[in-house]
Parts: sequence; structure tokens; C-alpha cells
Amino acid sequence: MKKLEEYVRSIPDFPEEGIIFRDITSVLQDKDGLRLAIDQMQETLNGVDFDIVLGPESRGFIFGVPIAYNLNKAFVPVRKKGKLPCETVEMEYDLEYGTATIEIHKDAIKPGQKVVIIDDLIATGGTIEAITKLVKQLGGEVVKIVFLMELEGLKGREKLAGYDVRSIISYP
Ligand code: 5GP
Repeated sequence: MKKLEEYVRSIPDFPEEGIIFRDITSVLQDKDGLRLAIDQMQETLNGVDFDIVLGPESRGFIFGVPIAYNLNKAFVPVRKKGKLPCETVEMEYDLEYGTATIEIHKDAIKPGQKVVIIDDLIATGGTIEAITKLVKQLGGEVVKIVFLMELEGLKGREKLAGYDVRSIISYP
């Protein structure tokens, strides 16, 4: 059987010249690739005590929901501003050009609940840093952050200092 990293397709110059895009659709569209990805991310949570999986729109949903379901935990979506219907807390963060705002429903995390954050990839770390602030604001505790892939050169981990961060595949 192929290794998980062999299922990731690397696309040069997407979405802009000079960027190598790590495509997960090639992982998902193969039954063995999909199973390897979910299983290996899920294994990092062995022995971790937590209540909620939290995943950012949209690729965080793909990996977060099956892991939450398998481990009998709740799933909380983090969405771009304006998509959630009830009362929310929001956080703005910097993108390469401009800013973005994400939201979580205010009642989705209760004080003291332990949260695991799951996403497909860490680049600059800005998205997940913003999410950790929202969890804190609601009184939750981030106990682990799991990515399928990490772009090490962008040093996203530095923004997540103090957190237990795991990635399955690393690119320099
Ligand atoms: P960050 O906030 O860490 O800079 O950006 C991370 C977000 O950008 C992730 O949610 C991820 O989905 C997306 N992203 C950035 N580069 C890539 C890439 O090469 N491949 C994939 N699949 N997602 C990317």
C-alpha cells in the first residue's frame, strides 16, 4: 500500500505563481488515502482527554467530523463571518493580503471544556491562532492541535507556542 504522503498531489504555481499547493482531493478520492489520513490524524489523540473537535471551514470539516464521530465527541464548526445563524464570537486575523474574520457560536463551547482543533494544513498559523483566541474567550481549553500537513518554512508553529501541535506530513 502507498504511504499517505504519496497521495498528496503538489500543484506548482497555484493559486499564484511561486506557490506549491498541497492538494488533499487526491488523498480523499482514494479509499486507502482517505482511511490513512483519518486513521493517522486520529491516532495522535490516543490517550488525550477532550470534549470537542473544532474544525475551520472547509477542509477542517472534512477531517474533523469523522474523527469526532469515531471518538464519540462533539464537532464545532468555525466559519467565515456571516454564515452562522445564532449569537457568535468573532476574531479578525491577518492574511497575506488583507484580513479575514472567523466566527464560532457562543454556546458551542462551555467554560472548562477541552478542545482539539483539526485542520488540513498549517501555513502561517494565523487561522489557528485566531481560533485558539476564540476558544479562550469562551472559557475552553485547547489541549491539542492536529494538522494533516505542515509547511515548516512558514513557521506557523511559532504562533502556536505553548500548545501541543502535531502534523502528520511536513514539507520544508
Ligand atoms: P494559515 O492561516 O496557517 O496561513 O493558513 C492555513 C489555511 O490555508 C488552511 O486552512 C489551509 O486550508 C489553507 N492552505 C494554505 N496553503 C495550502 C495548501 O498548500 N494546501 C492546502 N490544502 N491548503 C492550504
